[in-house]
Amino acid sequence: MQDTSPNPFPADLYGGRLTIDTDAIAANWSSLKSKLTGGAECAATIKANAYGTGQTETALRLHQEGCRTFFVAVPTEAVSLRQTLPNATIYALDGLFPGTADLLIQHNIRPVLGSLEELKEWAATCTAAGRSFDAAVHVDTGIHRLGLSGEEFLSALADPSLMGAFQPNLLMSHLACGSTPDHPMNRTQLQTFKTLTDPFKGISRSLANSAGVLLGEDYHFDLVRPGISLFGGRAFDHGENPMRPVAKVEVRIMIVRNVPAGDTIGYSAAETAKRPLRNAVVAAGYADGLLRRAGSSDDRPGGFAMIGDHKVPILGRISMDMITLDVTDIPEHLVKRGAFVEMLGPNVAAADLAAYAETIDYEYLTSLGRRFERVYGPLA
Ligand SMILES: *Cc1c(COP(=O)(O)O)cnc(C)c1O
Repeated sequence: MQDTSPNPFPADLYGGRLTIDTDAIAANWSSLKSKLTGGAECAATIKANAYGTGQTETALRLHQEGCRTFFVAVPTEAVSLRQTLPNATIYALDGLFPGTADLLIQHNIRPVLGSLEELKEWAATCTAAGRSFDAAVHVDTGIHRLGLSGEEFLSALADPSLMGAFQPNLLMSHLACGSTPDHPMNRTQLQTFKTLTDPFKGISRSLANSAGVLLGEDYHFDLVRPGISLFGGRAFDHGENPMRPVAKVEVRIMIVRNVPAGDTIGYSAAETAKRPLRNAVVAAGYADGLLRRAGSSDDRPGGFAMIGDHKVPILGRISMDMITLDVTDIPEHLVKRGAFVEMLGPNVAAADLAAYAETIDYEYLTSLGRRFERVYGPLA
C-alpha cells in the first residue's frame, strides 16, 4: 500500500523505523471473519490510533477489505474516523460525554450508552430534535466498568419514554476474562448477557472482542468487535497465536563499544558485565514506547532484540532515548554503526517482550513509534 503519511524528515535522521503492514491487518480481519460460521458481522475495534498502527491507514484498508462497522473509544477518534470513512457505521465505546450529543449527531456517530444518565441525555436530545438517532446500549455483565446494571437495563428498555425516543440498534456487553478461555466468568457473563437481552431479539447483540471470537459461536451473536487480533496480538494468554504480525520496529545502532568484565552498564549501574562484553547502543528508548520495565539488572533478566537470526539481550536499564544490547557473540559484519536492529516484529513478538516488561502486547502496540519514521508496506 502507498505511504499515506509522508514523514517530515529524511529517513537517515530518525532513530528508528516503524513499518506497518495494513495488508496483514486486513488478512487478520478476514481470518477472524471466516470463523463466524453463524453469520455474525465482523466489525473492527480501532481505538488508540488503531492500536498504534495508524487510524486512517488501517481504517481505509479494512474498509477496502469489506469491514463496514468500526468501534473507537473517545469521541475525538470517532469524529476523525468520520472524515476518513464518510459512510461507515462508527461507534464510540466511551459513550456520551456531557453536552456532546449534538456533535455526535452532526458527525453521525453512535455512542455506546454506558449509564442511565447517558441514555436519558441521548433520549432527551432525540426528543428535542424530533428525530430518533442510533445508539448502542451497553449492559454490564460483570466487568463493572461501563454499562447499565442489569436492573437499569431491563427497566430502561421497558420504558417507552426512553426507548421510543431513540433507535437502540445494538445491545452490547464486554468480557472481563476472555484472555483466559477456561475462566468460569466467561460462561457466567455469556449466560447473564443472554438472559438480559433475550427479550429484545429484534435488536442486534454483541459480546465478543478478539478473545470472544476465538471462544466460539456461542459468543458471536450478531456482531463481533475484535481489536488486538487484527494487530497480530494475543487474544488468549497461552497457546499458539495464529494471527500475522503487522508491525516491525527497527532501531539504529549508534555506537559499538567494549565493556571490561566487572564494569557496569547504564543508569544505576544495574547490570554488571560478567565477562568482557561488546555492546551496541541503539537510538530508541522508553520515550519511543520501548517500555522501561523490559530492561535487565543483575537480579533479573530483561527482554531481547534480533540482529539477523541472532537474539541479542538488553543490557541494563532502558533509558529515555537509548538501549544497550549485548552483541558479544554476533558476527562483526552484522553489528555496524548505522545498521538496524529489530526490537519488535516477526522475530520479536510484542507478547514476548511484554512478558519481560510485566505487561501485555496491547501496551507495547499502543505506545509505539511517536518518534520513528513510519513506513506502510510489507514487513519482510
Ligand atoms: C477494546 C475493546 C474491544 C476490543 O478488544 P480486544 O481485546 O482488543 O479484541 C472490544 N470491546 C470493547 C468494549 C473494548 O473496550
